[in-house]
Amino acid sequence: MSTRVDNIYGVIGDPIGHSLSPRMHNAAFKKLGLNCIYLPFRVTRRDLKSALIGMRALNIRGFNVITPHKTAVIKFLDELDETAEEIGAVNTIHNDEGRLVGYNTDGLGIVRALQEQREDPSDRRVVLIGAGGAARAVAFTLARKARSVFILNRTWHKAAKLAKDIERRLGKKILARSLAVDSLIEALRDADVLINATSVGMYPRTEQTVATRKVLHSGIVVLDIVYNPMKTLLLREAEAAGAKTITGVGMLVHQGAEAFKIWTNHSPPVEVMRRALMRELSRQ
Ligand code: NAP
Repeated sequence: MSTRVDNIYGVIGDPIGHSLSPRMHNAAFKKLGLNCIYLPFRVTRRDLKSALIGMRALNIRGFNVITPHKTAVIKFLDELDETAEEIGAVNTIHNDEGRLVGYNTDGLGIVRALQEQREDPSDRRVVLIGAGGAARAVAFTLARKARSVFILNRTWHKAAKLAKDIERRLGKKILARSLAVDSLIEALRDADVLINATSVGMYPRTEQTVATRKVLHSGIVVLDIVYNPMKTLLLREAEAAGAKTITGVGMLVHQGAEAFKIWTNHSPPVEVMRRALMRELSRQ
């Protein structure tokens, strides 16, 4: 890498050590010959406001935002793009000459991850497990495209609130239940796609799954947004039930690629970014 750095980008969250985004974005900068660097910054809840003031002062051109700041960060931004405003969460900030603008690229990420596996969500019946930050982005995006979205979450009131938020905003009826074997069986009976948008199964709790082969069937496509490990227990159970599976890597690549485009105005080298991620995940 040249010693000259034109622009600095990064990711803020707490914890931050597990983030694979630096690998992905630095590989993209290198491929395009841009003298830019992407760094992980651990920012506690208490320091979030100062971190954003610092971002402006130091002219850091863009941040990704991960747990626990995706919603809390909104009040410190100058502007929200329509998608982020609708979802109520931000995963990408662009420092546009001192104006901090918030975006959410997770929804686009999941749509592209499905499409590249020839699973266009249009007109599909989707079962979504989870009602946290990532699930909100997935739910709002798929509610616009899919025939139906059925949300299940451990904490029922969060699923109900998400369903109500979507209904109010998009005028589309969304079913919500608490996550249990019975509700899962009911939801999956007529489903085409199952998406896990919880953290269940993520390293180090890799022995956990939101569904077993007993409730899954060969008529559905199962996408797990958890990407570490790449093949989660849910995906292994789905394979055993004869279902088609999609890992969370595609979503990670595409949400990152869209952020890259927002920040740099360059067409992102998607396959370079994917290879950098896969290399790191295989190493881990
Ligand atoms: P979050 O806002 O903290 O939400 C966590 C979700 O997981 C909630 O729905 C929570 O349910 C559920 N949950 C946690 N532990 C559970 C358990 N033991 N049993 C059942 N449900 C449980 O987190 P997030 O930001 O949405 O992230 C969720 C996962 O998605 C993480 O693993 C993250 O790495 C991954 N992710 C992947 C991508 C990608 O590009 N592939 C992008 C974003 C996030 P309650 O509401 O009941 O607490």
